[in-house]
Amino acid sequence: MSGLHGSAHTTDGVILRATPVGESDLVVALFTRELGRVSAIARGARSSRRRFGGALGVLVHSELALGRRARGSELWSLERATAIADHAALGNDPVLLGHASYGLELVRELTPAEAPEPGALELLLGLWRALAPGPSPSVLRAFELALCELLGHGVALDRCAGCGGDEALDAGAVFDPARGGAVCGGCAPTSRGAGVRPLPATVRAYLCAAAAAPLADAAALVVADDDRAAARDLMLGFVGHLVGKPLRSVAFVAQVHAGLRSP
Ligand SMILES: [Zn+2]
Repeated sequence: MSGLHGSAHTTDGVILRATPVGESDLVVALFTRELGRVSAIARGARSSRRRFGGALGVLVHSELALGRRARGSELWSLERATAIADHAALGNDPVLLGHASYGLELVRELTPAEAPEPGALELLLGLWRALAPGPSPSVLRAFELALCELLGHGVALDRCAGCGGDEALDAGAVFDPARGGAVCGGCAPTSRGAGVRPLPATVRAYLCAAAAAPLADAAALVVADDDRAAARDLMLGFVGHLVGKPLRSVAFVAQVHAGLRSP
């Protein structure tokens, strides 16, 4: 942390996306603790690895030294990056890579530019740590629910998104992404959008448990296969409604699973 003018700003964060420009440079989208989501130019990042080493890799948590922006430019200058923790081993398993990338993609799509959200960085790093033992849909649910809550898109699960009541949530309830989550049996007839799905009591209980679980503990949640699949579909519907476009990591994971099932 340092002065506003001229000197470098040191913070930590992760790379959301890297785009080659010119002969040797990279433009990197970063999610930083102190500045939130910013774009920076890493000069010479492709011609010389000396200044950046492996710190600009995917799934690496790094200390980042940012220089002053050029006048009139939105780009910061990335002067230096040093790896703090490397989670790239998640990439050895295509399903884990998809899950870890899903977290990145949600942070990239749901956070505003240049607004600090240190809790979102902690959630992303917590997701990567929690995935290290292996893929866990429950960890993804806990991450989604916590990130949405943090960013002001909290999913209604123990209150009706229509009337605010906590009655009739387990009798004829539906899940309505456009209204913000659970809709009680009394209000359900007014939820008719394309994304509306039934919300069985067991699925709601599972999502409530995932919302309350620390990421590190979520993998231990016990749930029936059908309920886990239903919860995934509901939450992907919710997140898709928020983001407003298909998520590449979701398509990637679906492809991987399809490939694993094929002979
Ligand atoms: Zn209601």
